[in-house]
Amino acid sequence: MLATNSRYWTSLGIASQAMAGRSLYVMSRRVCASIFSCRHSHQHRLSNIFKPLNVMPKGAVKKSDEAMSISQKLLVDLGITSLRSNGMYAMLPLGQRVLNKLTALIDEEMARVDSQRFSLPHLTKAELWRITGRWESTGEELFRTEDRRAREYVLSPTHEEAVANLLSDVQQLSFRELPLRLYQISSKFRDEINPRFGLLRCREFLMKDLYTFDKSEDEAVCTYNDISGAYGRLFQRIGVPFIKVAGDCGSIGGDFSHEYHYQAAIGEDTLLLCQTCGYATNAELLPDSNNVLPCPKCKSQVDKISGIEVGHTFLLGTRYSKPLQACYRNENGKPEVTWMGCYGVGVSRVMAAVVEVLSHPDSIVWPWMLAPFKVCIIGPKKGSRESSVSSWVEHMAHMVSKEDGYVDDIVIDDRDSLTIGRRVLEATRTGYPFILIVGKRAAEHVPIFELIDTVTHESHHLSHQMLLQYFRETVKNKQKL
Ligand code: ATP
Ligand code: MG
Repeated sequence: MLATNSRYWTSLGIASQAMAGRSLYVMSRRVCASIFSCRHSHQHRLSNIFKPLNVMPKGAVKKSDEAMSISQKLLVDLGITSLRSNGMYAMLPLGQRVLNKLTALIDEEMARVDSQRFSLPHLTKAELWRITGRWESTGEELFRTEDRRAREYVLSPTHEEAVANLLSDVQQLSFRELPLRLYQISSKFRDEINPRFGLLRCREFLMKDLYTFDKSEDEAVCTYNDISGAYGRLFQRIGVPFIKVAGDCGSIGGDFSHEYHYQAAIGEDTLLLCQTCGYATNAELLPDSNNVLPCPKCKSQVDKISGIEVGHTFLLGTRYSKPLQACYRNENGKPEVTWMGCYGVGVSRVMAAVVEVLSHPDSIVWPWMLAPFKVCIIGPKKGSRESSVSSWVEHMAHMVSKEDGYVDDIVIDDRDSLTIGRRVLEATRTGYPFILIVGKRAAEHVPIFELIDTVTHESHHLSHQMLLQYFRETVKNKQKL
């Protein structure tokens, strides 16, 4: 790069030809230093991150803490999300990092079951919803709108109609091209009667929705099992214990479904679980769930728990493909209706639900895989006695961010007008799994750093080498899957 750009560098007075006939350039020390610091500037610094503490829209009436869920309060208080209007949230930069990590996990697991990411428009023609009968049956939860020519649309709460219509419009697929698995990660709109608990029940929220197309019922069941495997792996990798139960097909319809839940007191679903035979169902499926206590299968007592639904899988059959003519050509070239499945994950709901399950009343605990940053490095306060050790901050950030599992995942809290204690408190509440403090012991003959594990609250005093070793071991244990 230096050789090809040599004339450019020289013209800027940045390099000088040291030895005639050789393309060896000597850079001025000033420029070397600035390029070096440019490389360091790739580090994330809290002074550059938009993380406004407790933002409320002007004029909004603050709910009492009791009316809020833990995740709703913490995510807003710590500048991770911001309430914009009833049931609608802005995702601020730290929240966006969490979502990016979650969508990356989803992308990986979807790729393992041969699903392709695509995207459909948010608006779907009302006509398609009329064909399936959902324009009438969905009622007031459906956001409806029209264009300047009075053509009606829905602001899509889900996309079965839109994707079935896509398949019927494109050149008919051959039987050889099935199964087909298409998913998107996009905003969904539902005019919920009671939006509440922050991201847990919103009117606009992020969903991963996968639609599958098969030739026959048998093959659709194989697909269903495949995708269920991917869901199991995804929720295991997220790292929060989950429960899979038989689900209600609700307004989507179809043949059968399963739901994935996190157990939480605030959860709006009641789940019935039998420890003896493994029976697990959403109480909605039973006609009189208030009274069923013996397990319908083995008659032993069932446990009743509350769950937050984070994922839902449906075997749809031909509920949408038939009326919308999503067909393929069979071996004889004749059109046949495809068998569909649809598979949702409430992406923004997962983000809040993990906080709901793991956190303490005034500090967030993130699962390792979703934390916005894995390590927050805090140096001495400006002007304090130990301020001479502050150069270690950049150095440690540089070293740790070269480690597997930490790349792009270190943030420096460089707001050095604040005391270490004040910054440690905020970092603990924000839930970075590790806080690394460069304090007065960094000035010792063998520099020593303090590492706080915000999940266990343990604190370790480690040398630079021991620290890197500790980080390596942690990744090995946490990212096993
Ligand atoms: P719920 O019973 O909680 O309303 P649902 O059965 O209507 O959920 P689906 O239509 O199956 O939900 O949507 C797929 C996923 O989208 C759900 O499993 C859930 O995680 C998420 N989800 C549904 N509604 C909302 C909402 N209002 N806000 C946030 N996430 C939602
Ligand atoms: Mg719903």
